[in-house]
Amino acid sequence: MRNLLVAGNWKMNCGPGETAALLQGIKNSGVTIPDNVDVLVCPPTISLKTASEELQEAEDIALGGQNVHSEDNGAYTGEVSTKMLKEVNCEYVILGHSERRQYFGETDKTVNAKTVKALEDELRPVICVGESLKQRKANEHKLVVRKQVEAALIGVEEQQAEQLVIAYEPIWAIGTGETATPDQAQEMHAMIREVLADLYSQDTADSIQILYGGSMKPHNAEELLSQSDVDGGLIGGASLKADSFTDIIKIAG
Ligand code: PGA
Repeated sequence: MRNLLVAGNWKMNCGPGETAALLQGIKNSGVTIPDNVDVLVCPPTISLKTASEELQEAEDIALGGQNVHSEDNGAYTGEVSTKMLKEVNCEYVILGHSERRQYFGETDKTVNAKTVKALEDELRPVICVGESLKQRKANEHKLVVRKQVEAALIGVEEQQAEQLVIAYEPIWAIGTGETATPDQAQEMHAMIREVLADLYSQDTADSIQILYGGSMKPHNAEELLSQSDVDGGLIGGASLKADSFTDIIKIAG
């Protein structure tokens, strides 16, 4: 069976000082990470080195970036490469978050290029997909998400696919306090798994963690995580406080 992955997407919060404090808070909380739970934190790029140092003795908490470029190096002002992320011990990278698609011009094509590059360089992509409220109201949510998943995975081979994590994040639920109902989440996650089975095989699809993201909090985590195709959470707001993040870890266990 799949482990659950509890992942914190810190977004543009926590410079190095606050990163050290938050990670100390998590470590000092005394939380024992259950065997069936993987934990990941994704601080801003500038804080990754500090985070890596803080996590040196916390081997059960993995580190990830929030974005990466698809080229190795060169004249790409403001960007970071897979190699740079790996140099500070990142194992994962979030790709195609709706905020990056909305504010920074990311497209299915750039998300695909980054996914291919990340896998090639042995970083596990956490590929974010999800529909807008308008698309859901127009009953287009399944089609939109199916297309996003298929587009992100062009050129990804089956043996690489086991490294993937998919995060279903309905845009209308991100940072709004409004959460998808457990049924809505399960329906979309099952559909995403079907897409993965069509692209690869049922076995491979069954091995891929599909996270839910969008206002996951300690009070709603249990219901969401109890759905059979919900394999964890990509957590924004609630990952910025040691107690709420560790509460979700405990609930997942
Ligand atoms: P939220 O963010 O938990 O604050 O809604 C989730 C995300 O955008 O990854």
